[in-house]
Amino acid sequence: MSIISKDIQKAIALLTNEELVAIPTETVYGLAGNIFSEKAIKSIFETKKRPFFNPLIVHISSVDILKNIVSEVPKKAQILADKFWPGSMTLVLKKDKSIPDIITGGKDTVAVRVPNHAVTLELLSKLPFPLAAPSANPFNNISPTKPEHVERYFKNDIKMVLDGGSCKNGIESTIIGFENEEPIIYRLGALAVEDIEAVVGKVLVKNKKEENPDAPGMLAKHYSPQTFTVLTTNILDEISKHQHKKIGVLAFNTSYKNEGISTEIILSKISNLQEAASKLYDALHELDHLNLDIIIVEKLPENGLGNSINDRLKRAAFHQ
Ligand code: AMP
Ligand code: MG
Repeated sequence: MSIISKDIQKAIALLTNEELVAIPTETVYGLAGNIFSEKAIKSIFETKKRPFFNPLIVHISSVDILKNIVSEVPKKAQILADKFWPGSMTLVLKKDKSIPDIITGGKDTVAVRVPNHAVTLELLSKLPFPLAAPSANPFNNISPTKPEHVERYFKNDIKMVLDGGSCKNGIESTIIGFENEEPIIYRLGALAVEDIEAVVGKVLVKNKKEENPDAPGMLAKHYSPQTFTVLTTNILDEISKHQHKKIGVLAFNTSYKNEGISTEIILSKISNLQEAASKLYDALHELDHLNLDIIIVEKLPENGLGNSINDRLKRAAFHQ
C-alpha cells in the first residue's frame, strides 16, 4: 500500500507520537520530526544515513516564532525574514538555549525557515512544536521534489509522505549566516542572490566546496545520480566523445535528439531559470532510472537561479 496521503490529521498524530513524516515544501520534500524529540531526531539521521555533525533546518509556521528559536536577530536578518518568509531562505542565527544540540550539530547557531507551502504551513500551525526537516533523501542522493521520489527512497522506513504535489521551486533553500551582523550566503539556492541584494545590498557568497563545511549542502559530492554524469558547456563535443554509449542528455533549452543519443530532457524550452530549477531533480531522477551509460548535462547561464542550479550540477557531476 502506498504511504502517500493527504491526511493532515494522520501526519499530526504520527509527529506527536515522535515518528517521522515526509512533508512537502516549495523547495524539496523534507523528512520531518519534532525538534524536541530525541527519538525522532535520531531517527532522521539514521533513516537518511546522514552524519550527526550535519545540522538540520528548523521549520516554523511564521516569523513570530523566530524569537523562540534564536537568541539574537541582527537587523538585516529581521529585514530579510520580513521580506522573504514564507519562502526559500534559511537564516543561520545564534540559537536559543532550548534548541537541542543534536539539531545544530553541537554549534551555537541554528538554521531556521518558514516554508512557503500551504499544506505544511497548516501542519506547522496545528503542531505545538517546530519540525526539523532535512531533505527526504538518503545522504548524498538526489533530493526529492515529488511524493513518489520519497516513497521510492523510504517506503520501508517511514509511515507517511504528506502529499503536497510537486515542489514549485525544486531546489533547496538559500542559506544565509551572519558575521559581524552582516549577511553571508553559505549555500546558493532557490532564492537568487540578486533578490537578496536588492533588499540588503551586496552580500558575500561563501558557497565553497570544503571538507568540513559550514553547511552540509556544501560537501563536494552531493545530489548525485548513480549513473556516470558529466557537466559541460559543449553538449555536441561531449556526445562525440561517447559515441557507442547509451547517452542521456539534460539540456537547458535546445534539443539534441538528432545527435544519436538515447534520450533527452529539456529543462525549459523558453529559457526560464525558475522552470528549469523546478524540473531539475525530477529530470535527474528520471534519467538515473533508464540504465544509461552516461548522463551529459548542460551548464546553465551564470546569472540568478542559473548559479544555484550550476552549483547543484557541479556536485552531481563526476568531472568538476
Ligand atoms: P538539507 O536540509 O538536507 O538541505 O540540509 C540542511 C542544511 O542546513 C545544510 O546544508 C546545513 O548546512 C544547513 N544548516 C543547518 N544548521 C546550520 C548551522 N547551524 N550552520 C550552518 N548551516 C546550517
Ligand atoms: Mg539535503
